[in-house]
Amino acid sequence: MQKLQNIKGMRDHLPPAMLLRQYIINTLIGVFERYGFEPLSTPVLEYAEVLEGKLGDDEKLIYRFEDHGGRKLALRYDQTVPLARVVAQYSGQITLPWRRYAVGASYRGERPARGRYREFWQADVDIVGSHSPLADAEIVAVLSDGLEALGFPTFTTLLNHRQVLGGIARVSGLDEEAAGGIYRAIDKLDKIGAEGVREELRHSGVDQGCADRILEMVLLEGSSEDTLQALRQHLHDDARAVAALDNLEDILRGLEDMGIAPARYCLSPRLARGLSYYTGAVFETISSHWPQGSLLGGGRYDDLIGMFAGQRVATVGLAFGVERLHDVMEELGLGPRNRTTAQVFVTVFGAEQRVASLQLARELRAAGVPVMTALEPESPLGKQLKEADRKGVRYALVLGPDELSRSEVLVKDLASGEQRGVAREAVAEALR
Ligand code: AMP
Repeated sequence: MQKLQNIKGMRDHLPPAMLLRQYIINTLIGVFERYGFEPLSTPVLEYAEVLEGKLGDDEKLIYRFEDHGGRKLALRYDQTVPLARVVAQYSGQITLPWRRYAVGASYRGERPARGRYREFWQADVDIVGSHSPLADAEIVAVLSDGLEALGFPTFTTLLNHRQVLGGIARVSGLDEEAAGGIYRAIDKLDKIGAEGVREELRHSGVDQGCADRILEMVLLEGSSEDTLQALRQHLHDDARAVAALDNLEDILRGLEDMGIAPARYCLSPRLARGLSYYTGAVFETISSHWPQGSLLGGGRYDDLIGMFAGQRVATVGLAFGVERLHDVMEELGLGPRNRTTAQVFVTVFGAEQRVASLQLARELRAAGVPVMTALEPESPLGKQLKEADRKGVRYALVLGPDELSRSEVLVKDLASGEQRGVAREAVAEALR
């Protein structure tokens, strides 16, 4: 016999997991649409050249292959590069600024670990064609509202700016070339600690004094206002960093004006974010419930679309990682607890009650109640009730001869064991 197995890092999602995943996706879509984001879908396959040259070091993670016609194809790595292609390809049909969302699978040839898969779903929101700091703030607001709608009790979104990191490198006496190595070292701060980063910086040729200066700035903590003040003092000679700090201040004001709770976000100069296409503000959400790293992240990438469109298109966005949200929610017991879609199981008492039972099911469905019916009307009632309970359906309905003669339905709550007769015409309302 052939051994049945999945491809490593790719998973099957059986019904209980799928129900929670769909709840997550539907909840997020609800939030996205309340902000006026519009749906977009693109194929999972792209020409390899569409993805190439956009992802920096991560390019090695792209799944590539040739199809039957010898075309070089790639599985999409994220939904951001396809968005950039779409904006350039359909420029005449898209009105900017454009708020678009996309929900779908992405593929990365990573080493699988908890919360890190080779096939995973992302729910993206991006605002294309706006430089406004209100656009950055809105993305962070959607993120906060999305996590709150899912019931996350604690989380913080860290905010930083690529040119703050650039400025930190420059005022410490490093050139642009070296800055990339600095971001990578800082990115590991949580994993290897300050000493580890110092070691790594020295290893890449940064001298002791310089590494100390970098770390002094990167490790600044406290309220966003205090961190902003301290960074202004350190970076006042670097015009690009000053502009970046002004931009961050505007984004923070936007969040305040939108009414996002101050505990939900914080300026953090240590936030680097791996992807190479970010050009401005970057953000990442952390939660004590997810010690493995970031729950989700995003930022501004004003140059990526220009690689296809030939002109700069200012864009900011983020991706929710559905798997990570799912893992945390499962652990915390968040989201609905149902194990199946049906709320009601309609039993069939016997051959004479069959029509009445099937019609009751039809009426309930028409009234919007999800209903499962017995498929073996000949089997004893006890067995049908057991089936309903095993499936995890909450209520079972019985229409026996007594109930029929009284124009009633017996409603059994399978969780508590309680039961009561309800007038036939009032059943749908009672269940709702
Ligand atoms: P990125 O596109 O790398 O900015 O990732 C955005 C979000 O997608 C992350 O914060 C994660 O929640 C999720 N994500 C990224 N890579 C993976 C992966 N290999 N497995 C599961 N989720 C991922």
